[in-house]
Amino acid sequence: MANTQAKLPKIQTGLYINGQWVEGSLEKKAVNNPATKEELIQVSQGGETETLKAIQAAKEAFPKWSGMELADRVKLIHAIADKIEEKADQLALIMTLEQGKPVKEAKGEILTNIQNLHWNAEEARRIYGETIPAPNQHKYEVKKQPVGVVGAITPWNFPSNMIVRKIAPAIAAGCTVILKPASSTPLSPIAIFEIFHEVGLPAGVANLVIGPSKEIGKTLTDSDDVRKLTFTGSTEVGKMLYEQSAQTMKKISFELGGHAPFIIFDDADIDQAVDGLVAMKFRNNGQACTSPNRIFVSKAVKKEFIEKLEVAVGEVTVGNGLTDVMVGPLINEEAIETIQAQVDDAKAKGATVLAGGERLTEGDYANGYFYMPTILDGVTTQMIIFYEETFGPVIPLIDFDDEEEVIKMANDSIFGLASYFFTSDLKRAEKVSEALEYGLVGVNNTAISTSEAPFGGVKHSGVGRENGSYGIQEFLEVKFVHTKYL
Ligand code: ADP
Repeated sequence: MANTQAKLPKIQTGLYINGQWVEGSLEKKAVNNPATKEELIQVSQGGETETLKAIQAAKEAFPKWSGMELADRVKLIHAIADKIEEKADQLALIMTLEQGKPVKEAKGEILTNIQNLHWNAEEARRIYGETIPAPNQHKYEVKKQPVGVVGAITPWNFPSNMIVRKIAPAIAAGCTVILKPASSTPLSPIAIFEIFHEVGLPAGVANLVIGPSKEIGKTLTDSDDVRKLTFTGSTEVGKMLYEQSAQTMKKISFELGGHAPFIIFDDADIDQAVDGLVAMKFRNNGQACTSPNRIFVSKAVKKEFIEKLEVAVGEVTVGNGLTDVMVGPLINEEAIETIQAQVDDAKAKGATVLAGGERLTEGDYANGYFYMPTILDGVTTQMIIFYEETFGPVIPLIDFDDEEEVIKMANDSIFGLASYFFTSDLKRAEKVSEALEYGLVGVNNTAISTSEAPFGGVKHSGVGRENGSYGIQEFLEVKFVHTKYL
């Protein structure tokens, strides 16, 4: 536990509006370390007034930014990536302190930002229009143009990646942005905005407003100047923002909740399936919308799978993310309570606890929000955990006999973000990946989020896509120009 004393690096504590660090008009708010509950720092807060100023700044910056020489815009975005690379260790430390995830994992998140920025910078060069053969002597031309001012609202679970995966394509497309990050993790966003400032991103191109979510959210959705809203968070809040955005007919892209099925067929490579499950389930301690949440195991391989899973879960180390552990704390008390309620409900309805099932309270654990890596066997469709999103280190096991049955159960959810299955049968791989009603399917694989490929959900998991060429299109409008030659 030697380095748990690591100090928060020097960091701004204000809002960033029109190229300047400013104090907000509301009372400051503390940022706490979820591993120790200690206060890290106080951060300035702003509401409607500051959001309106940020919108105005973004509006004024838009013509210049979108009209700037593309080569210069591309160069600036690459420069942001380079600076993030230079400061990766510091950014990872900040993230671990405010969010809890192990520092190695935090660094991995920072590295995805670098890829994301480079990728989008290059993609800005490929925002192609189109010439359509006209049925006459006229010219039919399709132009792609930036939507304008973008509002972005992000959650606490990936406090750095979530903002970069929104801002990178937005500014690459020529848009300007107002970001409202989650209140519990404002420091990672501040650290990224410090880099925007350092590399000389023009004033107003990216603005940061920290403060009460409802007030800032409403100011963004009510504004006709904000032409697009990009949001990652809960389905509940997403639905509210969807409704609010209707009033100004905004373009939207929303990444919402998930409840990923993870299927182990009888012909799966069990070692690979266990490795994949443990890696993905304990990523960010299960606090991810892509986390495997309903684990369907073929009865034919269940015994072998459980034996290996119990060993692997037994090796998951929990502790302060500044030490050499695989998982850190959960984000807050409410997170622990929600998980405990799901586990207790499952137990009461007949599930067996094969591992964990409780909060960790001894020694240093008493100072933070730590929960035991948990395996529940005998989970059924009667239990809350089968339908409600789980945001924590719980592996619920559900038996199945055949393919049709498991596909039906896997699709029995309002969510449709990530899904995974393991099989060695190519024909089955094809059939099941077609049948799963999910935006993302991992086949013998759990790495489904990359800079190059579209990320997003169907059903109540969201609208639109992030990442890849699909992601940048969400920040562009299509204009048809029909020219008649005189
Ligand atoms: P999470 O459980 O990931 O925090 P939320 O949907 O509650 O999911 O929060 C995601 C983001 O949305 C956060 O930045 C949060 O502050 C913001 N948010 C929450 N409620 C609202 C709201 N009513 N309007 C706008 N933003 C909101």
